[in-house]
Amino acid sequence: MWETGRVFIPTGYCPTIGVAGSSLGGGLGNFGGTYGLALDNILELSVVNSMGKLIVANQNVNSDLFWAMRGAGSSFGIVTKFTFRTYPAPDFVFVGTLNYAIGMFPQVMNIWQNFVAADTGPTNVTLEFTVGNATNFELQFTDLSGNDHRFEQIRQLFPIPHDVSKIKFPFPDFLLYQAKVLSNEILRPGTKMDIPSDLARLNHFSSQPVYQKRKSFYVSKIVGESQLFELQSLLERMPSTVAVWFDGYGGAVRAIQPNATAFVHRGSTLYNVIASYKVIHPDPFINEAGESYVRHFFDAGREIFQHNETYQNYVDEDLLDYLARYYGDNLARLVQVKRNYDPDNFFRNPQSVPIRL
Ligand SMILES: Cc1cc2nc3c(=O)[nH]c(=O)nc-3n(C[C@H](O)[C@H](O)[C@H](O)COP(=O)(O)OP(=O)(O)OC[C@H]3O[C@@H](n4cnc5c(N)ncnc54)[C@H](O)[C@@H]3O)c2cc1C
Repeated sequence: MWETGRVFIPTGYCPTIGVAGSSLGGGLGNFGGTYGLALDNILELSVVNSMGKLIVANQNVNSDLFWAMRGAGSSFGIVTKFTFRTYPAPDFVFVGTLNYAIGMFPQVMNIWQNFVAADTGPTNVTLEFTVGNATNFELQFTDLSGNDHRFEQIRQLFPIPHDVSKIKFPFPDFLLYQAKVLSNEILRPGTKMDIPSDLARLNHFSSQPVYQKRKSFYVSKIVGESQLFELQSLLERMPSTVAVWFDGYGGAVRAIQPNATAFVHRGSTLYNVIASYKVIHPDPFINEAGESYVRHFFDAGREIFQHNETYQNYVDEDLLDYLARYYGDNLARLVQVKRNYDPDNFFRNPQSVPIRL
């Protein structure tokens, strides 16, 4: 898209996910604050329905199906074609990171949560929070305008970090950086994604068996000081196979009404917390401590955050209340649309939208 029209589609952060599943359930990435989720930019879908018929869904035709498929798409049909709104790609993207010792967590997290809460309109910037290990954490700032003015302003809001890095990327290199391939020196700047040998190098993600267990929840309130210290002590006990990150849901994502599409996690939603255990090993049970920690983190998070919503694209088989967590107030309408378009529940999986509650 860059080479043919210098345009792009806002998609997820992670380079390993497919367009279809991520866009039908959400799709949050670096461009979310400016352009919303991937699903917010779907203009039309071609869908094979439960009768085996190819139909179109957009704002005017099959509009209730169009509403439902943007948030719960896999329960309603097979999409054979997506039409997305595209945007001019910026020439440069600025990325700045602030690194801190874990002892600074409560102070920095407090500033960050208030920054996200105040982020109510489309904005060029994202500020992501990653606790990669039990001793350090990082704030990553991204600015699509390519300059560092806003970073310098935001930096003043936070305490002095022990390390700062600043990089200005040409847009295609930013995508490779985001794919964590530049930093690993697996791909060079200027890599051509249409050359098979270059593309094959991206397979480093899957060259060895990887087992992951993630649990996540949304937070919709500002957390008090004593709870932030509690969270710090929880993070300090994190095994080396676990990372926890915090995805802000501000800007253009929040500006859309929770019932405008089937994706309900907007409005009062501030951020998503994801605890992820990952091992590169054929035996998924090689580090059970990591997996137990992720479950413990989720349970302890109930006390700290009183969470009751979960991102439907971070499917979690442990959840018993998954329908309420994934779809909230949109659930009743989703069930109605399901009955209209798939009355025999042909498109189903263990956590799909049912035909009755
Ligand atoms: C490592 C990792 C990183 C992630 N990073 C992000 C991120 O940065 N941002 C984000 O928002 N999410 C992220 N996710 C979550 C991601 O959005 C979901 O896992 C999503 O389902 C991936 O889409 P897929 O097409 O690859 O998945 P698949 O497993 O292929 O599909 C997921 C679901 O969609 C259905 N589906 C797939 N294709 C179609 C189609 N054509 N028509 C109808 N239904 C279809 C499948 O049946 C299935 O139910 C991440 C997940 C992982 C595992």
